[in-house]
Amino acid sequence: MSKVLVIGAGGVGSVAVHKMAMNTEIFSSITLASRRKFKCDAVAESVKERTGVTIGTAEIDADDVAATTALLEKIRPDLVVNLALPYQDLAIMDACLAAGVNYLDTANYEPRDEAKFEYSWQWAYQDRFKQAGLMALLGSGFDPGVTSVFTSYTKKHLLDRIDTLDILDCNGGDHGQHFATNFNPEINIREVTAPSRHWANGEWVEGPALSHKQSFDFEQVGPKNMYLMYHEELESLAKHYPEIKRIRFWMTFGDAYLKHLEVLQNVGMTRIDPVIYEGKEIIPLQFLKAVLPEPASLGPTTHGKTNIGTIATGEKDGEQKTFYVYNICDHEDAYAETGNQAVSYTTGVPAMIGAALMLQGKWKGEGVFNMEQFDPDPFMDMLNKHGLPWQVKELDAPLAF
Ligand code: NDP
Repeated sequence: MSKVLVIGAGGVGSVAVHKMAMNTEIFSSITLASRRKFKCDAVAESVKERTGVTIGTAEIDADDVAATTALLEKIRPDLVVNLALPYQDLAIMDACLAAGVNYLDTANYEPRDEAKFEYSWQWAYQDRFKQAGLMALLGSGFDPGVTSVFTSYTKKHLLDRIDTLDILDCNGGDHGQHFATNFNPEINIREVTAPSRHWANGEWVEGPALSHKQSFDFEQVGPKNMYLMYHEELESLAKHYPEIKRIRFWMTFGDAYLKHLEVLQNVGMTRIDPVIYEGKEIIPLQFLKAVLPEPASLGPTTHGKTNIGTIATGEKDGEQKTFYVYNICDHEDAYAETGNQAVSYTTGVPAMIGAALMLQGKWKGEGVFNMEQFDPDPFMDMLNKHGLPWQVKELDAPLAF
């Protein structure tokens, strides 16, 4: 019987609380708090309709550590599930330390004024969480999250040693809009326009954003162009699996998305430095976010599937082998179950699973942890049971180049 506080009432937060409400034997009390309470109330109404469960709601500015600490002291949850934006990570971790509460998130901290995400800021909380006897679990979404667990599953069950790892993220969904992002537009565009970076022989190799692509035939989606990108799990996987010589991350983008993005970049709309407009400072990317469709609004119109997985090559009993571990998720099924499309679903479900394993004590520790540091088996079991079934396929050869 555990009490959980979820912060952030976007698409991911909505899926997570719906799934928690479907598992009240683990989550006996659920509160959803966010910057604007009416969003929490709308999610609460949908949860009640779909599951019959009543959840609490609250308004909180999670950038305000004192206010968040006061909310935690009032609710006294066993765990905070942070599904707000990466900007809030450190403030929420500070509030958790102040109130003595465990912490989980799905995306690593990023400063607002610098398009740079890395774990160093959150790993620096290791001693404080350890001394407080608390646990922080970082990156319990799909990627990072499930892809990190696929890697530890591969190492535990399929390969004695992993030499190369490719993470493939394909969204084959169509939302019918000219241009929209499937999760927070500001975070998404900052990520996609960052220089590409991959890990090779103990160092980072950088290149221009979206400069390296190849086509891959994704099961139930078809052939898609995927682009080499930097993604945060590369950093933690390189740290926790020093045996892996090369780790890369690939994401698919359609030509129309890239064309719009190029124009927006060329005209300065993706800038994150302030410009003066009618005497007031605005950040062009934040203004762009305000005019783009909210990711949560794409649910009713999105159809097609996501296919995300890991391809690992290494040695098993002295032989070279390649294994592909992947999940396929249907946008319409996700919407029918939770009222949200598959990108929110594939993040919100693993957030619920990570939270469940922490609350049940199946994943436990004191300090700050990444997903690949725990036994993958209970997480993999729950993926199969809670809407994200996975498959393993042996491939003849590693990814082309
Ligand atoms: P949304 O933008 O839809 O939702 C974010 C929510 O957080 C909004 O409800 C927003 O409030 C709220 N929020 C923003 N600032 C604050 C604040 N200061 N205090 C309290 N609440 C705040 O994003 P998503 O649901 O798509 O994504 C949620 C998180 O999941 C993000 O961190 C994203 O990076 C991460 N993610 C991780 C993935 C993974 O696989 N690991 C994949 C996809 C997303 P308001 O509605 O008022 O703006």
